[in-house]
Order: sequence, then C-alpha cells, then structure tokens
Amino acid sequence: MDVITTRKDLARWRAASRPSVFVPTMGALHEGHLSLMRLANRAADERRLHPGCVVSIFVNPSQFNEQADFDRYPRDLERDIALCEQQGASLVLAPGVEEVYPPGVEIATPPLPRVAWEPKLEDAARPGHFAGVCRVLMRLFQLVQPAAAVFGEKDWQQLQVARALSDQEHLGVEIIGAPIVRDADGLALSSRNARLSAEERLRALGLHRALDAASGASTPSEAEHVMHDILRGIHAEIAYCVVRDSRTLLPANAGPYRALIACRIGTVHLLDNAPWPEGPS
Ligand code: AMP
Repeated sequence: MDVITTRKDLARWRAASRPSVFVPTMGALHEGHLSLMRLANRAADERRLHPGCVVSIFVNPSQFNEQADFDRYPRDLERDIALCEQQGASLVLAPGVEEVYPPGVEIATPPLPRVAWEPKLEDAARPGHFAGVCRVLMRLFQLVQPAAAVFGEKDWQQLQVARALSDQEHLGVEIIGAPIVRDADGLALSSRNARLSAEERLRALGLHRALDAASGASTPSEAEHVMHDILRGIHAEIAYCVVRDSRTLLPANAGPYRALIACRIGTVHLLDNAPWPEGPS
C-alpha cells in the first residue's frame, strides 16, 4: 500500500494506475469506514478497476461551521494508515491543507445541488457545511480522478449531494452507497462518538430507538411525532427529525421515504436515518 501526501506524487501514482474506487474520509477510522473500504475493493474487482481502493484522510476545515468542532475532531494518522493496509487499500492519500487548497490557487465552490440547500436539514442545522463538502469533493475528485466513490448511508443527505454533484458537474464518478454500520446496541458508529460520556452514550441510543419506534407509525407525520417524543425523552437538542422523500429529501406524499434524525447530545452532533417504514437494520 502506498501513502502519499503531495499532488506531485499522486499524479505520478495515477499515471501508473488504472482508474480507482475512492473512499473519502476525515480519518479517526472505525468499522463503518472499514466496511466502505471492503465495499470499494469489491466494486473495483467487479468493474476491473485499480485493485483495492484509494482512501483519503483529510479533515476538511471548510466543512466545519464551528472552529471548536474542527479543533476537537479526533486525529490519529498512524493508526488510520495501519487500518487501511489491513483492509487491502492500495493507496492512502493524506494531504495537508496546503496541498488541497494551495495558497494563491483559486479552488471554486461549485453551485450547490438543490438537495444540499432545499430540504432545510443539515443545510439549516450547519450553515455552510455542504458548500465545504462540495468544494472538497470537487477538489478531491479532481486530484484522484476516480471511476467510482463510496459514501456511507450514515450521512444520507451527503450521499444524495455527492450523487447530485457528480451528475450536475458531469464528473463521471459513479457514487456507491454503503449501509450504516452500528454497534451491537444499535448506535450508529461515528468518529464523534468518542466524545460522548458514558451517560451521553446511553442517551444517544435514543436515536436508534426513535427510528425503530417510528417504523411502526402509519403516516410520516405520526412517525415524526413518535421520534420527537423519544428524542425529547433523552434530552437531545433536536435539529430535525423528519420523514422525507428518500432522494429529494423534501416532504412527500408518496414513498420511498427516509426517516432522518440530527440532534446534539452534550456537545456532540449526532446523525442517524433509516428507510421508513422498514426501520433501521
Ligand atoms: P467521515 O470520516 O465522518 O467524513 O466519514 C467518511 C465516510 O464514512 C462517509 O461517507 C460516511 O458516511 C461514512 N461513514 C461514517 N460512519 C459510518 C457508519 N457508521 N456506517 C457507514 N458509513 C459510515
């Protein structure tokens, strides 16, 4: 497995390689990320692309709307590199900020796809977040030039934004969604879970419980009420808990639907979602 930190070395690697399957991450890798790599490796194999996958580890400053969240974000590059190697990745790209956004070089933010701003979900809870995500994705896609990229369903809106961006900008990158990986008790894995105290982690189980309970509701609005009640019960600061069209994320009268939750427990922003009315897996 190669580890590359500069654009120059990446260009050299690319010239000697077939188009790849790409897994963008912010590091602090956990089993959720590793499952994305395994899916990417299989996708590369099936599509006869470069064997293994390309994993980027880059904590993107422009997608954090709170400096404190960026500063507190966990980082452990050596451990991450070892985990990528164990999963059979072919390349880890771990660039510094100045490689992704070189001083003096204008890196444009693409027009935001509708699904990034219209639903008033993550876009409302974290203003500027998807502008930062789209900007870094365009840049990383430009650097890596992958044939396909894998994104977790955990960040459901981000997955739809990545799809829309690839279509809109004619990037030709196939966007592949990967199922949510959960702890045995149902909590969706997240690098941010490390910041939950034991008591907060127990409360955080309410997200999964809310999605589960909502799956039994007979209408989207009843499902939203059920989720609200459970989230209020765990004293979560609710950003949204809704049932929406699974692709546009707008309110809808016909399925397929997705139930989506975002809330803050303590200082930690948590997300979860599930197909509705099926409930979380
Ligand atoms: P992050 O490092 O948080 O930016 O996440 C990198 C990728 O891993 C994104 O596509 C996430 O959706 C995905 N991911 C994070 N947590 C999980 C999880 N528990 N299950 C599946 N994918 C995940």
